[in-house]
Amino acid sequence: MTLRVLSVASEAVPLVKTGGLADVAGALPAALAPHGAVLTTFLPGYPAVLGAMKRAKTVHQWSDLLGEDARLLAGKIAGHPLLVLDVPHLFQRDGTPYGDARGKDWEDNWRRFAAFGRAAADVAEGAGQGKAGAFDLIHAHDWQAGMTLAYNRFAPASGAPLPAVMTIHNMAFQGYFDARIFRGLGLPRAAWAMDGVESYGGVGFLKAGLQAADAITTVSPSYAAEIRLPEFGMGLEGLIASRGSAVSGVLNGIDNGEWNPATDAALARPYTAKTLGGRKANKRALEAEFALDRDDGPLFIVVSRLTWQKGMDVLPEVLDHLIGLGGRLALLGSGDKAIEHELHRAALRHRGRIGIRIGYDEALSHRMQGGGDAILVPSRFEPCGLTQLYGLAYGCVPVVARTGGLADTVIDANVAALAQGAATGVQFVGVSYCAFAEAISRTIALYADKPRWKQVQVNGMACDFSWGPSGAAYAALYRSLTGTRP
Ligand code: ADP
Repeated sequence: MTLRVLSVASEAVPLVKTGGLADVAGALPAALAPHGAVLTTFLPGYPAVLGAMKRAKTVHQWSDLLGEDARLLAGKIAGHPLLVLDVPHLFQRDGTPYGDARGKDWEDNWRRFAAFGRAAADVAEGAGQGKAGAFDLIHAHDWQAGMTLAYNRFAPASGAPLPAVMTIHNMAFQGYFDARIFRGLGLPRAAWAMDGVESYGGVGFLKAGLQAADAITTVSPSYAAEIRLPEFGMGLEGLIASRGSAVSGVLNGIDNGEWNPATDAALARPYTAKTLGGRKANKRALEAEFALDRDDGPLFIVVSRLTWQKGMDVLPEVLDHLIGLGGRLALLGSGDKAIEHELHRAALRHRGRIGIRIGYDEALSHRMQGGGDAILVPSRFEPCGLTQLYGLAYGCVPVVARTGGLADTVIDANVAALAQGAATGVQFVGVSYCAFAEAISRTIALYADKPRWKQVQVNGMACDFSWGPSGAAYAALYRSLTGTRP
């Protein structure tokens, strides 16, 4: 039996992206299609989304969606069904999906994403779906979609709540608001409870979703275990622990069509594991692009949000060490202004050895994976992480902190793993100067041992982090919650 799933997310490639959530929401429909699940993606009508919906049809209208006039538009995203909530007053704004151009969150984010959740719950129950009727299951992603499950549970427009999955892409973003907003949510008083939307005296959108979901997933098995601990649970560890076996981890996959060094049009020279020599042309191109000295020493790359979570505050501290050992760095990212400032200072100290590009540039990120020798990912926590997976696929050896998805996807080049021919990267424990610097030393020593380095690159490129296994895991979960068979 074909399963109809409403996938509720605030971002999805190729229409709107601020992080890995968009990659996952964009990839899920294709990943689930072979398993008899048809995913319809539900997105807010941001300018970029509406701009891409040339032939959209209005399939439903609300005259009072938490006080707003709203329309439901139907279209396609990468050939899969797409529904978009058009509320110009809430979503048609300049800036990011969550705040103004300077990064300040919109004051009415609670209203924006409560309306989004209310509409999603209505749609899941069949609003605008004609004869197709209600969906079989709701899959909500992150706090922006969390309220969908609270409305589905406490205020279904008709009928009984639908089965629901809540996926946590990052526990650090919880959508926590003052208790006063509760009255504006249009929920019955019963929802104001510990096992409802109340969270530490306020309203927690992610918490509400986690509480109402039949199953909770996060994007790696290690992160699923870590969020039971205060260090990673960010206040919701008790709730996660109490949900017991309802919580599981499903690794994100990568899109092998987009991220394949053999066919990547962004690269000066595409290559495979058998033609790794082709990487040299990409390395030369990258050196030129970042105004770096030309040499055959190790070229490290970073493609990252420049934040504390990503360990980017420690990066400037280790750069003198990295350069002292003959390394160079090409960095692409943006974020924390203090970190950007420290990186610029390091680049001034080490002209020709460090190149910094502040901004967001998809094509450049491909060129960096194709020309860099090793990618640094020193995250303090990392639900899954995608850049280390791209690094593995491109023979750009990942150097990662042992946490979350980084721990699950990279095999450390220790003596035993090297002897077994299994190593795919370098791991270090704890994001400190000492641990990070030691990992860089180990990486540079490994790089000098050419046959071993090549083996590590080839091992990484042989890993299968495609959506195949993860699509099957989500399908099995959907089937178990709906009691259906493929
Ligand atoms: P997060 O979602 O926490 O930022 P992930 O590693 O899961 O981290 O996903 C980040 C995604 O964004 C990856 O696809 C990565 O290549 C991309 N990315 C991050 N920063 C940049 C940038 N400055 N330019 C281009 N792509 C970037």
